[in-house]
Amino acid sequence: MNDESQKEKLRQHFARRVTTQARVVLDTWQKIHSDHSLAAAHRDELASAAEKLVRYAQRFEMVSHAEAGQKVLTLMEQWPTGGAPADDLWPPLQDAMEILCRSTLRRTDQNSDEAPHQYRRTPIYIALENDEMANRLIRQLEFFGFRASAFSRADDLIEACALHKPETILMDIKFGGDAPDAGIAAIERLQERHETPIPIIFMSDEDGTIETRLRASRCGGEEFFYPAVDPGQLIEKIETYTHGNTVEPYRVLVLDDSRAQAKYMETVLRKAGMTAHIITDPMQIIHALEEFSPEIIILDMYMPGCTGMEIARVIRQQDRFHSVPIIYLSAEEDVSKQLHAMSLGGDDFLTKPIDPKHLIATIHNRGRRARSLLALMIRDSLTGLYNHTHTLHLLDQEIVRARQKDQPLCFAMIDIDFFKKVNDTFGHPIGDRVLRSLSMFLKQRLRKTDHIGRYGGEEFAIILPNTRISDARNVLNEIRERFSELQQPAGDREFNVTFSCGVAAWQGDSSQALCERADRALYSSKEHGRNCVTAADA
Ligand code: GH3
Ligand code: MG
Ligand code: MG
Repeated sequence: MNDESQKEKLRQHFARRVTTQARVVLDTWQKIHSDHSLAAAHRDELASAAEKLVRYAQRFEMVSHAEAGQKVLTLMEQWPTGGAPADDLWPPLQDAMEILCRSTLRRTDQNSDEAPHQYRRTPIYIALENDEMANRLIRQLEFFGFRASAFSRADDLIEACALHKPETILMDIKFGGDAPDAGIAAIERLQERHETPIPIIFMSDEDGTIETRLRASRCGGEEFFYPAVDPGQLIEKIETYTHGNTVEPYRVLVLDDSRAQAKYMETVLRKAGMTAHIITDPMQIIHALEEFSPEIIILDMYMPGCTGMEIARVIRQQDRFHSVPIIYLSAEEDVSKQLHAMSLGGDDFLTKPIDPKHLIATIHNRGRRARSLLALMIRDSLTGLYNHTHTLHLLDQEIVRARQKDQPLCFAMIDIDFFKKVNDTFGHPIGDRVLRSLSMFLKQRLRKTDHIGRYGGEEFAIILPNTRISDARNVLNEIRERFSELQQPAGDREFNVTFSCGVAAWQGDSSQALCERADRALYSSKEHGRNCVTAADA
């Protein structure tokens, strides 16, 4: 990443923090304004939120927010602790809030082109009877980079979905009506207007009857929650649906000596949204495997110099490609020959001329299974991140790539601070939740090209290709700071968790040496009081 885009990215992170804080101020004010009797109880909360806003806005040089926040603070000097504002103080306060609201909106509008990635994401809609819970969720989701909006009327929700289809809807079974299942009825109406149903997460105060659950599931209910769960669990669910929806294109390697046939396959695959890599010379197969790392391989049966079956055997000799699906292509219609080919390590057989629909369906079936098998092998089941072995494997791969392309590469290790205390105080399940929340946080905040692994217990490892150490340190430090602000829910209580991090630049040496340097840097972070990022010395 170059310096400018790095700076821009950081600027956007900071901008978001300020706007998030502005929303906290506005939310708190909204609460007070809609019920004046709450003024005394929430006065200090509003004041400290406004102070924090001014502090952030000044630090990140967001002038209009700083001014709007300062105005609120000045007015609040006339509002005594433990009391309500005098009658004539309400209108100017409301004005100040409106100015703040406008500058918060204007910021996102103005920058809509270059707004942070997170704001361009599809929204999440929240339709809950409990406003406080809805607001709390929105704030939490924002920390994870999600954009969420709450609704209080079913018709508004349906309208909004028609205008901008959300990623998922969190729906109260009772939402927006007197009937106990008014929420389900609203969703039924809503889904009628969409060809592909929107995934719904239903929430209910009581354990639904089988009839209710069936009805919920039939109208797109993916999840039925009872009793009302804590935000942490909900956010995890929302994360599954939002990520599950974006399927990475399959990487398909095609080897066919006929250039015309190869080109045709390439066109069909690209049209189906897959990433295709075509070779016509069997001798290039090893190189292509390494370079492209295919998930599915399509081999022509008959080529000059060797057969597809011989190539399959060579591919299967490499551990890494032991379970990659191989599909043969040929005009061969003799079933016994096809069977023989399959016995030599093929998974499927397609006869020429290829029916594009059949080809794509076969790839999807094979690909899906291969991915879920692979996930079991390379991913950690608690967090879904890469496991220790695979992380190290990726590190070796990235070192090869960095050397080839002559690019920088960084490796970071993260260890949660005093994690044992979290387990001891709140219990192991909450500890697990923290591990998942950090893993989601890292996934949200890092680039797609970065690799994130769970290195062990409460330790994580991050590979940052094409990144210089100063950039890596800045990004990680920003993540560290943001994560430490995240409220971790535990029943009705909340707590904060921090982590320490060590990061090292690759210096042309082995992955082992790189890991050791990152580990020493991590250790030094721990020694220097934790909750910090240390870069290993060059
Ligand atoms: P430090 O700041 O020095 O890193 O202190 P710490 O308490 O985080 O470090 P320590 O290594 O003493 O303790 C790590 C704890 O992490 C101990 C172990 O019970 C907990 N842990 C490891 N894996 C898991 C897990 O999968 N789930 C949960 N809940 N806890 C785990
Ligand atoms: Mg540890
Ligand atoms: Mg620890």
